[in-house]
Amino acid sequence: MTTTEPTTAEAGRDFIRDIVQADLDSGKHSRIVTRFPPEPNGYLHIGHAKSIALNFGIAQEFAGKCHLRFDDTNPTKEEQEYIDSIQADVHWLGYDWGTDLYYASDYFERLYDWAEGLIKAGHAYVDDQSQEAIRVSRGTLTEPGKNSPFRERPVGENLDLFRRMKAGEFPNGARVLRAKIDMASGNINMRDPVLYRILHAHHPRTGDKWSIYPSYDYAHGQSDAIEGITHSICTLEFEDHRPLYEWLLDKLPVPSKPRQYEMARLNITYTLLSKRVLTKLVQDGHVAGWDDPRMPTIAGLKRRGVPPAAVREFIKRIGVAKANSVVDVGMLEFCIRELLNKTAERRMAVLRPLKVVIENYPEGQVEELEAVNHPDNPDAGTRRIAFGRELYIEQDDFMENPPKKFFRLSPGNEVRLRYAYFIKCTGVIKNAAGEVVELRCTYDPATKGGNAPDGRKVKATMHWLPAAQTRPAEIRVYNQLFAKPNPDAGNFVADLNPQSLEVLSDARVEVGVAESNSNEVMQFERQGYFVRDEDSTPDKPVFTRTIGLRDTFAKEVAKG
Ligand code: ATP
Ligand code: MG
Repeated sequence: MTTTEPTTAEAGRDFIRDIVQADLDSGKHSRIVTRFPPEPNGYLHIGHAKSIALNFGIAQEFAGKCHLRFDDTNPTKEEQEYIDSIQADVHWLGYDWGTDLYYASDYFERLYDWAEGLIKAGHAYVDDQSQEAIRVSRGTLTEPGKNSPFRERPVGENLDLFRRMKAGEFPNGARVLRAKIDMASGNINMRDPVLYRILHAHHPRTGDKWSIYPSYDYAHGQSDAIEGITHSICTLEFEDHRPLYEWLLDKLPVPSKPRQYEMARLNITYTLLSKRVLTKLVQDGHVAGWDDPRMPTIAGLKRRGVPPAAVREFIKRIGVAKANSVVDVGMLEFCIRELLNKTAERRMAVLRPLKVVIENYPEGQVEELEAVNHPDNPDAGTRRIAFGRELYIEQDDFMENPPKKFFRLSPGNEVRLRYAYFIKCTGVIKNAAGEVVELRCTYDPATKGGNAPDGRKVKATMHWLPAAQTRPAEIRVYNQLFAKPNPDAGNFVADLNPQSLEVLSDARVEVGVAESNSNEVMQFERQGYFVRDEDSTPDKPVFTRTIGLRDTFAKEVAKG
């Protein structure tokens, strides 16, 4: 199913907010506490933005608070770089955790003590089976699992082994601590899940202190309980983990009993939102880094020039549902365009320049013409653009032998240069290869500003730049990273779009555009929205296309 329709959240409501409201009304909670719990093993993507906006949004709307908690229980994949980027990205999205920054690793001591408690109460045991043997004996959806031969180990022996696991006596994989629940349970998560594994690994925060690390299932709910989380929101794939989440809260002396709620993950067409895939894309060099503008990461969106408000609007429009679906990437693009159309100032750039000489314009003469910065916002003011005998236009805007419906420049045809004059093509100069390298034109001095006093009309208005008063620039035009609406996460390389980046290294921009260090997104007229990239050098600015102007999504919505 592909969703393009905004859901209930547009009205500011969804099933989770309804639950939160009901819990406040009934007095079950007096203050709401949510959390966003990323694992610091990669950069955040737009799927995480959905979770961030929901958790922080609920905290804001209901005068509660939202914690940022790093679920740092797997030191082999976690890095400080990710911890830093995640904080920067949450802030960029416009949310703040105040002083409520936590790490699951802060609770390692307490989690360990509680695990000993489970052993003493006969609810956990040390299993010496290999990982493979544990996997095989867990059974399947249709077959029950088999009890481990170590399941009935006496408490004293379990305790001794668990302490020695902690002391680092055994190699990785030698033993695990398992909850003793029910190997015949219809829910595989309840078939004696692993609570601790041996891992001799350096942890970014606890260093070499620990040789055992808690599993996600064991650490997550208990961390929620320690922090007094009232509503623990996660994605649907954790629905089957909820009985385990509740079993552990029930067996342990936790200070509070959070409730877990599941919502649909965000999926978007032409996009893969899986850290495994995104990590591979970066590691194997399919993109330039985590912040490559083609990446669906927050860092990528930021570098691409997408305003955080557009991401928030997108998240608001897609809503929060209980059933998984795939959102049309056009919806995200629509939100970006809609916002930038209002905020972005207009400028001119020529992506693929073609030289034009205005033969009847006096040699050496330059005049300044006035250009409007924003058609709907007079407060944005105007700027001056030099007009002279030599100009650049876009190669695409000229055809020597045009088909019928081509209204732009062609021999004998008259067009308007935006903010300037009507011009007419009188001659074409070609190189030895027969390619058009220069045009000869005439202009009509009576059409200054772009209107003819005799009322004659032209069918095209084109952007242009004065050849002398412009600067070279590199313009990077990005397209979808994947060529298919539903790329295969298992074999994503085959679905990559070979045309996802086009580098135009001979582009030209207005002098003011080149000289400005602003990182505001601009509209290059008729071309799209662009933002200055950090790869810019003093000699050559680089501009990244945030998004094109064409609005195919709006048309589809109109069609219904
Ligand atoms: P991935 O599946 O991409 O590897 P993850 O779920 O393992 O991501 P975490 O760091 O554990 O990544 O995620 C932090 C939070 O973000 C979790 O609560 C998770 O449910 C939520 N989240 C992750 N991906 C999405 C998504 N596509 N849509 C909504 N929420 C998501
Ligand atoms: Mg996860």
